[in-house]
Amino acid sequence: MKSAPFEHYEPTTVNEATSLLESLDEPTILSGGQSLVPMLRFRLANPDVVVDINGIDSLDYLEESEGYLRLGALARHADVADSDLIDERYGSFADTAPLVADPQIRNRGTVVGSVAQADPKGDWGSVLLAHEGDVVAAGPDGERTIPADEFFLLPYDTTLEPEELITEVRVPTPEPNEGSAYHKLKRKTGDYAMAGVAARLVFDDDGRIETAGIGMTAVDITNARATDAEERLEGERPSADLFEAAGELAAEQSNPESDEHGGAAYKERMVNVLTQRALGDAAERAGTVKRRVTQ
Ligand SMILES: Cc1cc2nc3c(=O)[nH]c(=O)nc-3n(C[C@H](O)[C@H](O)[C@H](O)COP(=O)(O)OP(=O)(O)OC[C@H]3O[C@@H](n4cnc5c(N)ncnc54)[C@H](O)[C@@H]3O)c2cc1C
Repeated sequence: MKSAPFEHYEPTTVNEATSLLESLDEPTILSGGQSLVPMLRFRLANPDVVVDINGIDSLDYLEESEGYLRLGALARHADVADSDLIDERYGSFADTAPLVADPQIRNRGTVVGSVAQADPKGDWGSVLLAHEGDVVAAGPDGERTIPADEFFLLPYDTTLEPEELITEVRVPTPEPNEGSAYHKLKRKTGDYAMAGVAARLVFDDDGRIETAGIGMTAVDITNARATDAEERLEGERPSADLFEAAGELAAEQSNPESDEHGGAAYKERMVNVLTQRALGDAAERAGTVKRRVTQ
C-alpha cells in the first residue's frame, strides 16, 4: 500500500522547523522514518503535512559537553554503535545500540525518534530512565527540558506538545565509580524486546551503592522505572543476594501482558533475571567487583 498524499517541508534550521510546526495544521515530524514510513504506508498515520528534519545539520551530533552526553535528533542508532566515546564510557548505550532492530534500521533510525515514538517496546526509553536523562525540546516559546521520568505518558503518547521538536536527549556524564548495562530478551535478531532492563549504578568511595537507576522495556504500558528495586539497592554493598532481591522487586513492579511471545508470568521472571544480569554488569563496569556477582 502507498501512503496518502501529503505536503513535505525540509527546514534547514531548528528555528525554521519550529516556525513550520507552529504555523502548519497538524504537522508530523520525520527523522529516520523507520517507524513513521511504515505507518504512512499502512495508512496508520495520515498526516497532511510532514516536516522532514534531516536537513538540519546542527542536530547531527553525539558528544559530551557541559556535564552531559548529548545525542542530537539526527544521531542514528548506528552512530551510537560505532562511537568510541560510547564504547569507553557508556556501557548501557554500547549494549543497546547493536540490539536495536537490524543494520538497515539502525543506519537510518534515530535515538531521538525512538524516544519520540514512545513505543513501550523501544529500548532507548529504558536507558534514558535508568540514567535519569532528559529530553530537550524546542518550541515557539524557546527551549524546555523534560526529565525522562515526566516524558512517557501512554503507549505512543508523551508530554511533548504538537508544535515542539525534540532537539536532543541527554544523560549526565559518568561519575568516577559508575557503571551501566542493558540486557534484552528477544525471540530472534531484529525483533523488539520481549523484555529488557537497563541498569545504572553509582558507588560511593566506601563501595556502597549511592545511586541506582533501573529502566524496564516491554513490560508495562510505557518504558518504566523499577523504583522499589532502586530503593532496595541504595546504601548497600553489591552482592548476588542483593541483586536477586532487586530482581524480584523489579519483576513485582513490572506489569507485562501475555502475548504470542510469552505469558505474563514468564516475562516477569525474565525481568527478574535480566535485572540481575544488568546490575551484575553495571557493578563490574563500575570497577567495584572483580567479576559479575550474578550467575
Ligand atoms: C522491523 C522494526 C524493528 C524495530 N526494532 C526495534 C527495536 O528492537 N528496538 C527499538 O528501540 N526500536 C526498534 N524499532 C524502531 C526503530 O528504532 C525506529 O528507528 C525508531 O522507533 C524511530 O526512529 P526514527 O528516527 O526512524 O523516527 P521516525 O520514524 O522518523 O519517527 C517516529 C515518530 O517520532 C516522531 N519524531 C521523530 N523525530 C522527532 C523529533 N526530533 N521530535 C519530535 N518528534 C519526533 C515522528 O513524528 C514519529 O511520530 C524497529 C522498527 C522496525 C520497523
